Amino acid sequence: MKIAFIGLGNMGGGMAANLVKAGHEVNAFDLSEEALATARDNGCATFTDAAEAVEGVEGVVTMLPNGGIVKSVYEASVISHAPEGAVLLDCSTIDVATAKDVIAKAEAAGYDMVDAPVSGGIAAANGGTLTFMVGGTDKAFKRAEEILQAMGKAVIHAGDAGAGQTAKICNNMLLAITMIGTTEAMTMAEKLGLDPQKFYEISSQSSGYCWPLNAYTPMPGVGVESPADNGYAGGFATALMLKDLRLAMEAAGSVNAKTALGQHATEIYEAFAEKNGGLDFSAVIKTL
Ligand code: NAD
Repeated sequence: MKIAFIGLGNMGGGMAANLVKAGHEVNAFDLSEEALATARDNGCATFTDAAEAVEGVEGVVTMLPNGGIVKSVYEASVISHAPEGAVLLDCSTIDVATAKDVIAKAEAAGYDMVDAPVSGGIAAANGGTLTFMVGGTDKAFKRAEEILQAMGKAVIHAGDAGAGQTAKICNNMLLAITMIGTTEAMTMAEKLGLDPQKFYEISSQSSGYCWPLNAYTPMPGVGVESPADNGYAGGFATALMLKDLRLAMEAAGSVNAKTALGQHATEIYEAFAEKNGGLDFSAVIKTL
């Protein structure tokens, strides 16, 4: 297929390269000259205008920083510029309301469109092992699936437009809460004189079993290898977790969902991110 890819940053760069590897012809656009040069090296055709990049394509994929940018790119350069019948996929993490609004506008103009945010970081984007959670009609999902499979290991239809973003922010709110809980339990065990490795061995096989403890142990030298063993470098940045928590709180407010722990986790990450936004989110253990 001929596909336009807009937003070739940390995530989008590797994703576009994987589309090329899968045999697609990729028209790439980004505001950054450096990102365009890398895309060229990876076999993409590059453009200096988004509206030109979407001319004559069968699909458009976007991987952009936030909802405001997604809305402006679709309204100014994709909708009514991409050929009639093209399928549109926004893989950015954005607010549910903007995702629904952009999809409604695209559908009104005759396009099939999905929101398809991802789980998995830069390594998964480069390796083609992302998980996509997809919102949209059955028809839009089926068309998008073919493109997404070239960039991921799992493609799941979450529901109607916006359901992908909903799944993403609910998952990440749960992750933030369980990460903070894990750091509190491990630190408390240590302060009470229990060897943290013993605590890991016991709790990871007991009812305290959870992803941060079992698969991403946040204390250096304890449990499985994780960013904690690398000075909390790499992994999933605190600033990105905070972005997702803020989106979650905005969405919770819009439907009056009670999220006391989500709210508290947001406050903890807000304070921690002021000086530590670049560290992996498990570094929140340092606040204890
Ligand atoms: P990034 O900042 O590295 O990349 C964004 C790219 O978009 C940049 O290259 C930038 O130049 C480009 N851009 C900005 N405005 C543009 C415009 N108007 N037109 C064209 N290009 C434009 O960000 P990233 O880490 O690649 O993240 C992208 C999205 O993926 C975000 O929504 C983020 O929340 C989500 N995400 C990131 C990760 C991660 O680990 N980095 C994981 C999951 C989801």
